[in-house]
Amino acid sequence: GQPLLSVENLSIVYEVGGEITRAVSHINLTLNRGETLGLIGETGAGKTTTALGVMRLVPNPPGRVAGGKVFYDGCDLLDLPEDRMREIRGNKVSMIFQDPMTSLNPVMTVGDQIAEVVLIHQSVDKPQSINKAKEMLEMVGIPAGRYSEYPHQFSGGMKQRVVIAIALACNPDLLIADEPTTALDVTIQAQVLDLMKGLKQKYNTAMIMISHDLGVVAQVCDKVAIMYAGEIVESGPIRDVYQNTQHPYTKGLFGSIPDLNKDVERLVPIKGLMPDPTHLPKGCRFHPRCPEATALCSKVSPKPVSTLVGGDHIVSCHLAHPQLECAG
Ligand code: SF4
Repeated sequence: GQPLLSVENLSIVYEVGGEITRAVSHINLTLNRGETLGLIGETGAGKTTTALGVMRLVPNPPGRVAGGKVFYDGCDLLDLPEDRMREIRGNKVSMIFQDPMTSLNPVMTVGDQIAEVVLIHQSVDKPQSINKAKEMLEMVGIPAGRYSEYPHQFSGGMKQRVVIAIALACNPDLLIADEPTTALDVTIQAQVLDLMKGLKQKYNTAMIMISHDLGVVAQVCDKVAIMYAGEIVESGPIRDVYQNTQHPYTKGLFGSIPDLNKDVERLVPIKGLMPDPTHLPKGCRFHPRCPEATALCSKVSPKPVSTLVGGDHIVSCHLAHPQLECAG
């Protein structure tokens, strides 16, 4: 069948004072129902901009979609009138942001905040919406008896659970979670991730999980896309990308996973900084930092290619051309 979400060649720019910042360039992603995609990269790689692009929430101005399409269930979101888009945002696609406080109203009880969303997005009356909100609280592991408490009475992890309950109150087909556990301590992180895994199994919700944490993504996701300087440099099923890593940037990232059994000195940080997106290097955007760069890399930007291993493991690197002939 057709994928739930298909992002084709999406490019988004920000224009400030006549200077153009290429926030994301030629992004391609597909997601089927019930699938979870991890979007990985350093701060500024374009992960959040990609998500905002899918939700059509890129602030305009200064941002705008410079090209590409976003198909949701076969319909191009970038062509929809704003009122239809708002419906999709409320009913079909929900987004969870990093800091739960940005999504919660401090002067409204958590229960009423969930009930309000239920009332707007489901055909129920007020008393039914309250009951539904209590169910949602229980579902995310908060006793229904805490319906009438305010956000400040909850811990960080509990607040993020409330945000998840609100996001799920409209039974979205797609949930986009932007670093949903980054602000939480490790134990609570694990609980929230377990909760999200459970919900995915129970409701077959597709998810895009934005993270800079490879371990988190490995736990929750079916596939992964690695972003660098606004582009996807490597993507595919999680096992292929983690076990048959092809792109020098991904290799560098994986090399820098802290190993608890090793000394800190043995980490392999990637030398250098991500380029300024207003002044991207010519050729491969990673070439100034790439330990494997050749003369070609600073002149010609690599096209995405499938590796031999599987058609859907895609790598953008001159060294990753598929070998058409087998040795021997
Ligand atoms: Fe490195 Fe060249 Fe591959 Fe870019 S194209 S990642 S510079 S080897």
